[in-house]
Amino acid sequence: MSNQNWMKETKLIHTGYQHSEHKDALTVPLYQTSTFAFPSAEAGEKRFSGEEDGMIYSRLGNPTVRVLEEKMAELENGAACLAFGSGMAAVSTVLLHTTKANDHVLCSRGIYGCTFGLLELLEEKYSITHTFHPLDTADSIEAAIQPNTTVIYVETPINPTMELVDLELVATVAKKHGIRLIVDNTFSSPLGQSPLQIGADFVLHSATKYINGHGDVIAGLLIGTDEEEMLKIRMTVQKDVGGIISPFDAWLILRGLKTLSVRMERHVKNAEKIAAFLENESFVEHVFYPYSDKHPQVELAKKQMAFGSGLVSFTIKGGKEAAQYLMNQLELVQIAVSLGDAETLIQHPATMTHSVIPENQREEMGITHSLLRLSAGLEIAEDIVEDLRNALQATEKKFTFHS
Ligand SMILES: *Cc1c(COP(=O)(O)O)cnc(C)c1O
Repeated sequence: MSNQNWMKETKLIHTGYQHSEHKDALTVPLYQTSTFAFPSAEAGEKRFSGEEDGMIYSRLGNPTVRVLEEKMAELENGAACLAFGSGMAAVSTVLLHTTKANDHVLCSRGIYGCTFGLLELLEEKYSITHTFHPLDTADSIEAAIQPNTTVIYVETPINPTMELVDLELVATVAKKHGIRLIVDNTFSSPLGQSPLQIGADFVLHSATKYINGHGDVIAGLLIGTDEEEMLKIRMTVQKDVGGIISPFDAWLILRGLKTLSVRMERHVKNAEKIAAFLENESFVEHVFYPYSDKHPQVELAKKQMAFGSGLVSFTIKGGKEAAQYLMNQLELVQIAVSLGDAETLIQHPATMTHSVIPENQREEMGITHSLLRLSAGLEIAEDIVEDLRNALQATEKKFTFHS
């Protein structure tokens, strides 16, 4: 079922699923099967040759997974989507597809810690190099492009500093130079930002985060603008490297997706209130939230993002010791990596998600020991704020020395 006129909030629930093809089941059935029985040897031959549509083996496709893929392709305004067993499987698949030995990947100033780790591995094994740049003007992007640059890889907002990259600007320069643009859209969800509409070639998600939203699945999604190319990825890197999603995890994500728009509303509302509270706290140095009037790129945020999303980063006085002390004082807010769950989560990027990045490079990205990243959950904002207030007061008391 699909109707181009529907809003994304409606598509989340209905698109990609046809009751009549599934014994009229209202919700998507779980096809927990590894393989499919062909009606005849000839039918099997035709399915393998691509002459006939139909399932073959769940590494190449599964009906439950297909519903998720169709829904996400539509939500991200793409031609096709592939689902994976983790966000990193989506990242590694698209990078293996778009690069070959001796190519260069141009990256935004910060990227997810494991994406950084993967790029280091690709450099060590296949001499695929990478560099990080702010990508803030056409001149600076062009200066950073090398003769062997085949991919620009962007995260925006950048994790965990909430710095933004102007997608329209980067897409324009990438197009001019025939370079593929890949955008990690995990932080915004398909409701917050539409990179393919702005000119990106691929958008990917760690579906572990907002898309599933319930903290019980690890999965990834890759959406592209060229259907034939996406089919090629399905039948090469995805099939042969094999980082596919399980039907059960796809089923859980389909369940989670139905409430994405109502969940995002609460995540965003809570994050706004938390950011506003932190901005007035004396022990807090800086607050990083894209839709805050104090964010240096708030205009860009309002241009390319429908909302500021649910993540708030902030620095406090007193460095690592104070940051860790603060985390330990929290009662409601849980100390955990990941984001987009019902529970409000806090983490210390320098010693957790971004600890694999060498210290000097990490500091250049703005990830100091004073920085904390909070993922606003679905609780009532007042309870989260109260927990933060108590923890900040205790930390300020312990780490402020009066002479
Ligand atoms: C979590 C995350 C990833 C990796 O996804 P997994 O599902 O953990 O493999 C990639 N990019 C961003 C921005 C993330 O937050």
